[in-house]
Amino acid sequence: MASLFISDLHLCPSRPQIGRLFLDFLAGPARQAEALYVLGDLFEYWAGDDDLDDPFNAKICAGLQRLSQSDVPLFFMAGNRDFLAGDGFASKAGLTLLPDPALVEIAGASVLLMHGDTLCTDDDAYQMFRTEVRSPEWRKSFLALPLDQRKAKIEALRQESEAQKRAKPAEIMDVNPAAVLQVLTSHRCTRLIHGHTHRPALHRLAVAGEACERWVLPDWYERGGYLACDASGCRLLEWPPAAV
Ligand code: MN
Repeated sequence: MASLFISDLHLCPSRPQIGRLFLDFLAGPARQAEALYVLGDLFEYWAGDDDLDDPFNAKICAGLQRLSQSDVPLFFMAGNRDFLAGDGFASKAGLTLLPDPALVEIAGASVLLMHGDTLCTDDDAYQMFRTEVRSPEWRKSFLALPLDQRKAKIEALRQESEAQKRAKPAEIMDVNPAAVLQVLTSHRCTRLIHGHTHRPALHRLAVAGEACERWVLPDWYERGGYLACDASGCRLLEWPPAAV
């Protein structure tokens, strides 16, 4: 049995087909998994755990809860879009929250899991924004606003960030190689799995003479995809499976 890894689904009611694809995935390959790890940006945005009654959110959480009740351990690490997901979301979806980074054991080997945004250290403006919104003070004061106001503010931020992204060179939006080396070294780990950049790939690198792997997860824009890891290694797979 393999452990499965997904990220960057960016689920939202305006893309119902991706929501359905995800529910099919939860009822399909995820059922046979050793565990499922969601490494952030499951939702296009998350305004707070008081939005769990929203019909779309409720449907996604029910799908996750069904998987969890079928005895597949379910883990969630927040991304930059859904970092306001907290204990309320975790209990509704039947999952365990993971910190970023998280060191886990997969098939007897330790693997470092991250969303990936903290590796994009060349993007100074984003890193400053991240530091601000991840502070307990910001979180507390933002969550104290009425839900409607929070949603409106998030919409405005998203439009601003889309405009900024178009103006940024592509390299800045990718991981910084020194940041990758640093996390692998400090966690004494030879395998890193992350998402965020939407550039699915396996990157091989050497850290202090040791062969390391950096796996980047796909987004779920055009179609779905996931990484499956077991004792024999990892592979990127498409969902639904590519026609042969
Ligand atoms: Mn992201």
